[in-house]
Amino acid sequence: MLSGGRSERPGPPTSVTQMADDHSAWVARDAAVVWHGFTQMAAYAENAPIVVEAADGRELIDVEGRRYLDAISSLWVTTLGHRVPELDAALRGQIDRVAHSTMLGNGNRVVVELAEALAARVPVDGPHILFASDGAAAVEQALKIAFQHWTNQGPTKRTHYLAFTGAYHGDTIGSLSLGDGGFGTDVFDPLRFPVRRAPYGDLAAAEALLEEHAPTLAAVVVEPLVQGAAGMAMCDPAFVAGLAGTCRRHDVLLVCDEVATGFGRTGTLFALDQCGVRADILCLGKGITGGYLPLSATVVSDRVFSSFLGPDLSERTLYHGHSYSGNALAAAVALRHLELFDELDVLAGVAARAGELEALLAELVAPLHGVAAVRQRGLMVGIELAPPAETLRWGRRVSAACVERGVLIRPLGDVVVLMPILTSTAAEIERIVTVVAASIAEVCGGAPGPAGAFR
Ligand SMILES: *Cc1c(COP(=O)(O)O)cnc(C)c1O
Repeated sequence: MLSGGRSERPGPPTSVTQMADDHSAWVARDAAVVWHGFTQMAAYAENAPIVVEAADGRELIDVEGRRYLDAISSLWVTTLGHRVPELDAALRGQIDRVAHSTMLGNGNRVVVELAEALAARVPVDGPHILFASDGAAAVEQALKIAFQHWTNQGPTKRTHYLAFTGAYHGDTIGSLSLGDGGFGTDVFDPLRFPVRRAPYGDLAAAEALLEEHAPTLAAVVVEPLVQGAAGMAMCDPAFVAGLAGTCRRHDVLLVCDEVATGFGRTGTLFALDQCGVRADILCLGKGITGGYLPLSATVVSDRVFSSFLGPDLSERTLYHGHSYSGNALAAAVALRHLELFDELDVLAGVAARAGELEALLAELVAPLHGVAAVRQRGLMVGIELAPPAETLRWGRRVSAACVERGVLIRPLGDVVVLMPILTSTAAEIERIVTVVAASIAEVCGGAPGPAGAFR
């Protein structure tokens, strides 16, 4: 029996004490020099972190050879699995050509090829693509582009944005301003610029705000169908479609943040595909390289792009660009990744797994004591726990219990998030739900309560 109840997972232990020592030694070395985001470092070691050394398909392997099913897709970025042979080959192939060359004023062959492939698929008319490395940077670019789109056309009062309750768009100051706070980010409130805010999913409220403030609005920014970081808050396709129509009527740009929902997560390649909506500006990130390398993109319609055209060195130029924008290694992987969506018929797999997941959650999780609601769209799931007191830290404890059973989970407060890798097998989906159900029963106790709401 290993410390921390780590005995259930297969592994090649030579000596049990040596294994536990190796693990603690790595955690200590880690805590001494690495600062982990969204993590209280004084408590880091106590929260039983895993230290990953390798991976195999949908499993992560830690420094002691223990395996964990990756049920959060490495925080929502992994799509086809770890060490996908085709993606590995694309990366190796590009390394033998060039790793990176600047996109500022110059081009790169594989970036052109990726942009062409994306342009054929994105829900944007006449797409032009500005690359960056993180989702937050893609959102930041969208904010600046929307702003300058209006100033390019002369004096304007369109300097504000409308966003939604529960919104999350990243951690830079601009994207943080769009976001609705929480996660301990209130400390930065003095740095946030003011944003108009409507309740997520409430079309009448958004329409009323647009009616009143359109002349001062540069753009409306929305996460279509699912607000991941809000604990998987969901809205209807009709809300997104209605919002797009209202934006068009008031001539306000529609920015869609598909950093979380893009690349198959919701069942279609992009969430907007289910809404029948074309964005003026679309933000992509996370799954764009299948979880391999940092790459993000701000995709802009021809109409918005055209407002930036003018004489060389004129003020109509977009004076913005990142050093690693359009990294060639990341582009080569992203290009192959997009091809694999068709070759492997990934979306058919997502539909099958999403159906199985829904049935299993309704049967095994929704009726459990302590479960207030289960929300799902495609392979994005939030299981909302209702602890009788906030200090119980149910979300964290349920996740820890899952990790002890060899399934890697990370909660958002008291919402247990499931983001299975898109190529998961039926057996893996069943294992995730079974483990989560057992962990909730262990932590939240009690007999199965009244069936939790399911949608
Ligand atoms: C994760 C996320 C971001 C930020 O992306 P980073 O790559 O973490 O900067 C922005 N928007 C949404 C909807 C996200 O889920």
